[in-house]
Amino acid sequence: MSGIGLFGGTFDPVHNGHLHIARAFADELKLDTVVFLPAGDPYHKAQSTQTPAAHRLAMTELAAADDARFAVSDCDMVREGATYTFDTVQIFRQQFPQTPLWWLLGSDSLMKLHTWKKWQTLVRQIHIAVAMRQGDNLSRAPRELHAWLGEGLQNGSVKILQAPLYDVSSTQIRELIRQGGNSDGLLPPQVARYIRKHGLYR
Ligand code: ATP
Repeated sequence: MSGIGLFGGTFDPVHNGHLHIARAFADELKLDTVVFLPAGDPYHKAQSTQTPAAHRLAMTELAAADDARFAVSDCDMVREGATYTFDTVQIFRQQFPQTPLWWLLGSDSLMKLHTWKKWQTLVRQIHIAVAMRQGDNLSRAPRELHAWLGEGLQNGSVKILQAPLYDVSSTQIRELIRQGGNSDGLLPPQVARYIRKHGLYR
């Protein structure tokens, strides 16, 4: 199998867990490329505690330099309004009509898939690759997803990552830095340097 992996996220900041699953998916699915897609600034900026898009993009680009298969696209950042995976996938589908597309996500995101814009159309256009995160269990997936998930696991359009979990989250890292702790072991070194240089998450 070969194809393109699309990896959407807030990446606030991008961490070793993200790189680990991107690499593992690329290996297991024999992907030519994994495109990291940092989400745009949230619609209601006043309510947001999220780091500005420019910083998240810069950190993701630094991290992606680690593997020749990794690329970064700002297509979710330059689009007006809310970021919908459905719209992102249309862009790649048009650009690569014949290439298998895989959407890479953690199980926490999978559990909310039925709330995504046009999710039933979306899952017919792409394959889904899932990294199980701590405490999640597919048997507890929402009822709306049961039929699709069962069929997808059988016909191979849904794959579960076999590599062990690298258990870290951006929330954990932001909290650690805010408390004055050292999160260097959880981040690519170039990202840790960027965070220090720009005083992020203090
Ligand atoms: P936050 O803690 O801010 O919610 P996060 O660490 O979950 O952030 P995101 O940028 O929201 O990171 O994640 C992008 C995608 O990567 C999501 O599909 C998420 O489930 C997945 N992901 C993030 N960290 C891991 C990890 N350690 N293992 C597996 N999947 C992960």
